Amino acid sequence: IDLVDPEAEPGESAAESALRPTRLADFEGQPRVRDQLGLVLEAATARGAVPDHVLLSGPPGLGKTTLAGIIAAELGAPLRISSGPAIQHAGDLAAILSGLTEGEVFFLDEIHRMSRPAEEMLYLAMEDFRVDVVVGKGPGATAIPLDIPRFTLVGATTRSGLLPGPLRDRFGFTAQLDFYDPSDLEHIVNRSAQLIGAELEPAGASEIAGRSRGTPRIANRLLRRVRDYAQVRADGRITADIARAALDLYEVDALGLDRLDRSVLESICTRFGGGPVGLGTLAISVGEEAETVEEVAEPFLVRLGFLMRTPRGRVATDAGWRHLGLTPRPGSAA
Ligand code: ATP
Repeated sequence: IDLVDPEAEPGESAAESALRPTRLADFEGQPRVRDQLGLVLEAATARGAVPDHVLLSGPPGLGKTTLAGIIAAELGAPLRISSGPAIQHAGDLAAILSGLTEGEVFFLDEIHRMSRPAEEMLYLAMEDFRVDVVVGKGPGATAIPLDIPRFTLVGATTRSGLLPGPLRDRFGFTAQLDFYDPSDLEHIVNRSAQLIGAELEPAGASEIAGRSRGTPRIANRLLRRVRDYAQVRADGRITADIARAALDLYEVDALGLDRLDRSVLESICTRFGGGPVGLGTLAISVGEEAETVEEVAEPFLVRLGFLMRTPRGRVATDAGWRHLGLTPRPGSAA
């Protein structure tokens, strides 16, 4: 298992749902998103209207699903959940949309991965609350317009740039979620600790928060593992020392790098003299798929300023060398 993968692990959803805040007031961090969204919802409620469609964009594990639930709860509306890859035919979408109730919140995760015909149907539904159902095939096919209930679409995507312009334009409000500050993550793990009945000292919370890569999903996951350790190896109380010892055991270091991140960085420095080295060669040298290296390890190493992607290959920076306790090779890096 990869403790610092921001994607949800299979089977993790029950543990996650238990920790999901259900009201906007309990959603930690992202103050701008919270304020703006709060205003959109309050205004719509005051007018007795269905709010504009909302687009949530940002990396995995930052709370898009959580916010969709909160939007529905704040509006007192039911929530319907689906995802782009699950909707391959326009007919799948027509079935969902015509089954919505008035004012329902429709959460569409990975909205950028919908098929083209479904996407076109969605434009019309978002704008006019209507779908055209095609009956028959070939030259005799006819489109029958069908009114659907007014709904609020909450779309989620990892990057809003992946969406075609016409789809993006139909959202009245876009919230860009960013990585969380350590202090927000401390609040999140403190709240989670209370919910799962774990005894967490402030210094323990800060130790976990600092290693969570700015991502609530990872913070909650590390908390669960540290709690196991505290129960089995100590008296259950999560102190800074216990958190540190547990996370060392799980090979998550002080900045949140795990074994894969470290071996990628180490390999660039010690086997390839700091780079540049091509992705394929690098992946083979750490015994991983190129895709995993590129999508799981590299983004975080780049964000920390430990690695650069250059046209000639991957290069370790001076900071990267130093994080491993190595002396940068003279003239090797940025
Ligand atoms: P994905 O796109 O991979 O599904 P996501 O962005 O939808 O990820 P969520 O499933 O909403 O992420 O959140 C992951 C976990 O982090 C949940 O358990 C949730 O409780 C917690 N979490 C996320 N954001 C917050 C927050 N602002 N405050 C408290 N908990 C949060």
